[in-house]
Amino acid sequence: MIIKNVTVIDGTGGAGLPAMDVRIADGRFEDIRPSGADTARAPSGDDGEVVLDGRGGYLLPGLWESHTHLTGFAMSLPEAERLPHLQRAMSGYLDSGITSVCDLGGSVTQSRTIREAGRAGGTAASLFFAGPVFTSVQGWPLSFHGERSMAVEVGDVDEAHRQVEKLLDQVDFVKCIFDGKPGGGERVTLAALEAIIQAAHGAGKKVLVHVATGTDLREAVAAGADCIEHSFVPEDPTDASEAEQIAALLAATGTLYCPTLVTWEQLGRSGDPAYLDELVAAGISSAEDAAAIAARPSWGMPFPHHPADESQTRFDYAMRTLPLFHEAGVKLVAGSDIAIGMPTPGSALLRELQLFAKAGLPLSEIITTATGRAAEKIGKRDVVGTVTVGAVADALLLDADPLADISHLIDPRRRRAVISSGRLI
Ligand SMILES: [Zn+2]
Repeated sequence: MIIKNVTVIDGTGGAGLPAMDVRIADGRFEDIRPSGADTARAPSGDDGEVVLDGRGGYLLPGLWESHTHLTGFAMSLPEAERLPHLQRAMSGYLDSGITSVCDLGGSVTQSRTIREAGRAGGTAASLFFAGPVFTSVQGWPLSFHGERSMAVEVGDVDEAHRQVEKLLDQVDFVKCIFDGKPGGGERVTLAALEAIIQAAHGAGKKVLVHVATGTDLREAVAAGADCIEHSFVPEDPTDASEAEQIAALLAATGTLYCPTLVTWEQLGRSGDPAYLDELVAAGISSAEDAAAIAARPSWGMPFPHHPADESQTRFDYAMRTLPLFHEAGVKLVAGSDIAIGMPTPGSALLRELQLFAKAGLPLSEIITTATGRAAEKIGKRDVVGTVTVGAVADALLLDADPLADISHLIDPRRRRAVISSGRLI
């Protein structure tokens, strides 16, 4: 396949490169060069190769959902319906321009089945997964749903070591819950977290750490976490200095930060009809979808461990201080976590990107957070997540410049094509 005369936004943060020809072969970007450049194998479209006219178009890496839990989308369904439902969800991501999905806690067997079915069918986003999360004895999320295939309980350091070694060759990365919020039960010990991170790093795997408080965050960074999941609960919501200190720490250590703003927004405003109206006005949801969300049993129900007022505080503080993280040089990543108030799993990531824009992040940075940076989060940046020669050919072709307006990335009418592993979807 060749896409001619297109502006390339490569997902590494640079400006768009106008008038490029991009050739895709064997599922990878084979050649990227200025249109009309004189070469031994000039892009011609001979030999039956598919040619896309990219004039007026923008080619960027396929988007990444770097924090979700597929199991959560099917939990309320009867057992027999779960897998087909999740397979449809994985295809649905592609409709939103999302070509890669990271599952941060689920059963290995189920994740593998979804991944293999997606590969065989050829019309699903690629799945990367953590398998079960590491947590304390009876810790979150076991204290919530008790589903033992989704979590590994660790007590002491030896056990942490034993359990992580058992899992490492089955998963793409490791996820650990390190949540010291009062009322959340025991936290994994710092020594156990360090043991998990050391073992994972020894096997070349990244460790993503879920935190609640600023203390959790600072200790997780000191233990060697690769990415911090969730913005923290501020000690004093009126004081930005805690954010400034944490931003300086994350920047100095090169630790990635995935604030999952849309989760705090959903938990803070669950049951609020004005929120659904806003989603409709923002192009995230249709009016029919909003009515369907309002009819869900979960709509307006208190969420365990995350009270609405605290979630709202977390959201407001994170929104207000987000630019300060970017300005400090923190590597932000886009991920949504949950989609209980969203029409589809894919729209949760799009809402996260919209919130990044609303908070004041530059559009080039926003694209990076959902492409190259997301691949970096799980250690796959050399393989996928950018439009560069040799990378897996996952891409999104838009007919309007996503560096000019965030809506160009969100609005489905702007999507000319989605390409997954070199295949036109
Ligand atoms: Zn999560």
